Amino acid sequence: MGAAETDDDSVFEQYRDRVDRPLGRLFREYGTPELHWLAVGMFANVLARAASLLPPVVLGVAIDAVFLDRTDYSLLFLPTRFVPATETDQFWFSVALIVGAFLATAVLTWIYGVAANNFAHRVMHTVRVDSFEKLQSLDMWFFDGKQTGEVMSVLDNDATNLERFLDNALQNSVRLGVMVLGIAVVLFAQNPQLAALTLVAVPLMVGFTWWFMRTVEPRYTSQRESVGDLNTRLENALSGMQLIKTSGTESYESDRVRDASFAYFRDTMAVLRLNYLYRPGMELFAGLAFATTFLVGGLWLTTGTAPGPLTGTLSAGEFVTFLFLTQRFTAPLAEVSNIVDSYENAKASSERVFGLQDVPRRITDADEAVELSDPDGRVVYDRVRFGYADGDPAAPGDDDNSALSATGGSQTRAADLDPVIDDVSFTAESGETVAFVGPTGAGKSTLLKLLLRLYDVDAGGISVDGHDIREIETASLRSAIGYVSQDAFLFDGTVAANVRYGRFDADREAVVAACEAAEADEFVRNLPEGYDTRIGERGVKLSGGQRQRLSIARTVLRDPAILILDEATSDVDTETELLIQRSLDRLAADRTTFVIAHRLSTIRDADTILVVEDGEIVERGEHDELLARDGLYAKLWGVQAGEIESLPETFLNRARERRAETVADDD
Ligand code: ADP
Repeated sequence: MGAAETDDDSVFEQYRDRVDRPLGRLFREYGTPELHWLAVGMFANVLARAASLLPPVVLGVAIDAVFLDRTDYSLLFLPTRFVPATETDQFWFSVALIVGAFLATAVLTWIYGVAANNFAHRVMHTVRVDSFEKLQSLDMWFFDGKQTGEVMSVLDNDATNLERFLDNALQNSVRLGVMVLGIAVVLFAQNPQLAALTLVAVPLMVGFTWWFMRTVEPRYTSQRESVGDLNTRLENALSGMQLIKTSGTESYESDRVRDASFAYFRDTMAVLRLNYLYRPGMELFAGLAFATTFLVGGLWLTTGTAPGPLTGTLSAGEFVTFLFLTQRFTAPLAEVSNIVDSYENAKASSERVFGLQDVPRRITDADEAVELSDPDGRVVYDRVRFGYADGDPAAPGDDDNSALSATGGSQTRAADLDPVIDDVSFTAESGETVAFVGPTGAGKSTLLKLLLRLYDVDAGGISVDGHDIREIETASLRSAIGYVSQDAFLFDGTVAANVRYGRFDADREAVVAACEAAEADEFVRNLPEGYDTRIGERGVKLSGGQRQRLSIARTVLRDPAILILDEATSDVDTETELLIQRSLDRLAADRTTFVIAHRLSTIRDADTILVVEDGEIVERGEHDELLARDGLYAKLWGVQAGEIESLPETFLNRARERRAETVADDD
């Protein structure tokens, strides 16, 4: 719970608060197609409970009619023509009824269990898949926040909460209703006066439950908080183990963990003390009802007259039925607190589920979006401006909360205050290589994320083959672009499956050819099972250089017209670097390629080099031109440390001054 409840979950909350009657919506949207399961489950449940009430009633009747021979054999709703005539037959009839009732209870309970679970789990299966699909379609800004934990808990905890409610709580409340009502009907039918006396316990037990829930709730809240604190403490300490050891603060950390753990212990005991009061309390009420019934019924039977203000008669059989049934309403009533708890949880969980489902998509295809088929890859940035909005760029509560239109875009976005990209224009002709150089945080990656349309520009526009990317089908735009980054992500699965990812129809020859082009074939063949070796969590671990070559192979196989190479500082050895560079050069040869370069040596031959600083292009040209110009690029080249981040601050300042001069010159 820790992460889910402590994070600033503003985006979720905004949509969550607008969810109207979430459980009703859950039934409407997801329950309807599965209602037959619910109906069968409820019906079997009602019958099972009713059948379970039968044996004590039969016993009572048998005592009166068969053993004591006081009355005729008459069962509540059973027409007399079904009842056998002789006492022996009536005895066997009773035995058959009792066995039949137990059998029916067993079979019906099984049916209700299967049906109710089918309902709950089918509903939740659909909810889970739907929520995941919705989640995948959400824009990047949604994932930029710290919401992974919370999103995960929607698909995990919240789904479990709802499952529990739909299955247990719903059926337990049916059981509760049937038992209390059924017992009341039977008792009142037999002896209304004694029934009234016995059933006084029910409202008392409900009142007790209400008191219990009100008292325990705040204790549960503190318990949840303290377990969250404890987990945070432990996680923190474990991930900071190196710091703890190097600063010698073990005993300080132990103290902190001890305090957090003790707080959790204390809060848990506060809950448990009360919890252990509840069951016995409920049993005490039931016991008092039992004792009262026994006292009053016993006096009634032994004296033969109704005690006190009571009137009428009571038979021994009725007395036995009363005593048996009095004990039967404790268990279902004790479920009340669980049912209410589960209901509250389910309400909150379905709010979260629908809150997630209601987050709108901003980046959608325009109505008449064109498909980018067989693109040439000419890319033009025209006075592009962009800033990361803080969270939902058009959250509810804003003046304009309609989705940003696919073209245009709001003019009052974060970019106006603090643009990450400011007035960037350049053109990459088909097949050209454009390299971006500049300090960390300058905006190089952001520029290329805009091309992938992970975010929409705030002003200006980006076009591919003459189409503004907001007028291109997003799927076809993205499939025209290959993205190779240093921290290549590989899924758990075989090498071949990972290379094939995104082009699932590729055959083995194509996969091998792609790996050869990516200089990966050799190391793959040396893996225990070659192309069928499992990598990732349960398989072989690969080095950074190997992962990157697989990711290059994946891109080779996809054969995109446009390529983005995010060449982050790598710590691969020189030989591997050469291999990677060779395969990248091969990959880039006939495509429009954008390189985010850290090693300037790799981009010497680029058609255009753009030097980016603070979201603006401060120098542009070919390598030789830029060197001749003796500006920031020339200095960077001179340092040749490769890693611009390591430049001394004074140097960067001088570069900025020079930039100011250049801008002035241009004017
Ligand atoms: P570079 O690739 O040149 O290192 P980036 O494009 O990654 O730079 O980052 C440019 C600026 O945008 C930085 O100030 C960075 O902190 C900020 N930034 C990057 N990604 C996000 C994001 N998802 N949300 C908010 N700000 C971001």
